[in-house]
Amino acid sequence: MKFRLIILVLLAFFQSAAQDKYPTNYFRYPLDIKPSFSGRFADLRPNHFHSGLDFRTNQREGYPIYAVADGYISRLRVQTGGFGQAIYIDHPNGYTSVYAHLRAYAPQIAKTVKDFQYRLQSFEVDIPLTFSEIQVKKGDLIGWSGNTGSSGGPHLHFEIRDTQSEEPINPQLFGLTGSDLIKPEIKGVYLYKLNGQAFSEKVTKQYIPVKALNGNYQALSNEPIVLNGESGFGLVAFDRNQIQGTAHGLHRIEMQLDGKTVYEANLERFSFDATKAINSHLDYPSLKNSGINIHKTFVEPGNPLQIYQAKNNGRISLEDESVHNLTYIVSDVAGNQSILTLKIKQGIPYQSSSFTEKGTVFKYDAENYYSNEEVRISIPKGTLYSDVDFEYASAPRIAGTFSKQHRIHRSRTPIHQTYQLAIKADLSLTAKLQEKALIVDAGGAAQGGTFKNGFVETEVKSFGTFFIKVDTLAPRITPVNINNGKAMTGISKIIFKIADNLSGIGSFIGTIDGQWVLMEYDQKSSTLWHQFDERTQPGKHVFELMVTDKKGNQSTFKASFTL
Ligand SMILES: [Zn+2]
Repeated sequence: MKFRLIILVLLAFFQSAAQDKYPTNYFRYPLDIKPSFSGRFADLRPNHFHSGLDFRTNQREGYPIYAVADGYISRLRVQTGGFGQAIYIDHPNGYTSVYAHLRAYAPQIAKTVKDFQYRLQSFEVDIPLTFSEIQVKKGDLIGWSGNTGSSGGPHLHFEIRDTQSEEPINPQLFGLTGSDLIKPEIKGVYLYKLNGQAFSEKVTKQYIPVKALNGNYQALSNEPIVLNGESGFGLVAFDRNQIQGTAHGLHRIEMQLDGKTVYEANLERFSFDATKAINSHLDYPSLKNSGINIHKTFVEPGNPLQIYQAKNNGRISLEDESVHNLTYIVSDVAGNQSILTLKIKQGIPYQSSSFTEKGTVFKYDAENYYSNEEVRISIPKGTLYSDVDFEYASAPRIAGTFSKQHRIHRSRTPIHQTYQLAIKADLSLTAKLQEKALIVDAGGAAQGGTFKNGFVETEVKSFGTFFIKVDTLAPRITPVNINNGKAMTGISKIIFKIADNLSGIGSFIGTIDGQWVLMEYDQKSSTLWHQFDERTQPGKHVFELMVTDKKGNQSTFKASFTL
């Protein structure tokens, strides 16, 4: 009895130690409405894991946002995309809270931002602030919720970061949580026949359907799954807060072989530098080809995410002919768990064709180069997740372009960072057009570029097909509510729609009577506006706007108005 009590006390101690890793009573909620999440930490997003909690705001803007604890504002940032209008607060306990997509800042903060924008003559600003500038108390109003930046609808994107490392941590671990009594759902498993090969879209894989049984999962078939030599597995699973609710990411995935952990992914925190490696964590070719999210539970050697603990990178080789147990334990942040057990056994080893026989092998842990008379690429170390059997091909030029089409490896092979690409221009790119040339991908997306010694050069973010085009057209400016001589009394802003055909909007400058004025820009709605303030007094004025694209093509608009 006494022994049992000691164990219970010890257990309670370890449990509270685990919970004490992050303070759970320190932060309040940033909104006063009932917390409900449209996005959770580590949700699977294009090219990144979601880095915070998305609080629903009833599809409306304008809910008051409060400081979640005492601290000081350490950074204010305005972006045309990304977080839009954002606030960062450093707290004395070593964490930073982040509030994004705000419609407006509280007055003192708004003044700081606007003064800075006028000083820099720039809408986009990133303002570092020190301890002595703007201090806040827990519960202070700091702004109003909105939909600015690359937000897909009104909500508050909220993060908690480790101030030192800037790594985002799941805010639910700090007690900012909602009810979740639903276990993660497991949809199926894939078997990858690796046999020493690097992962690529060429690896053969087999789908293993699963079924739920008494709250847990097993393979649909009772027969053991046959492995043909060294294998990897992949898991299709997600979590919900409520039945029929939004599908969210997972908190933890563990794979055991005969009761011993051979792979673990813990999505409690990650680094922003590594988040793009979600494309290595997932089976990227399957995601691109069929839209399914398969968590590969074997780790590619160039994957920089520090979320794994894996034996032999999670690759499994069975040493004997007997039947073994492969178990997945999948958890959400609330501690709900689902368990899947599979029977596996060794069969006849699969004969894979080693890819080193032909072509050029690019090593994941080295710099890699390729060039011929018409194309040059230079791939820095840290770009590839695995060794690749590099492929290059070219095709004749398409009408209206200025080079051949060059296929640089495969678009289904993800990369972690940009690499240098130079494409030789054909003779139709006359001297006059050279400064208007840029590289475009097969989907028509402009990649930028500079003409140099017969080539157009730029940094590109993916493998795929590229060629040269020119942008000679100036951006379009469409006035929404102003024309020459307009009486603007009682109107709060001058509004425009702006668009560019290819290279994209590079800059915009608005002036009133020759003085720079703040133009605010919302990229997703192509809307540009100037909000009148005390800087413009009643009377007659001249407004001018100049919009330039990334290839230097320029449009202007001019109108007099009275206020
Ligand atoms: Zn978000």
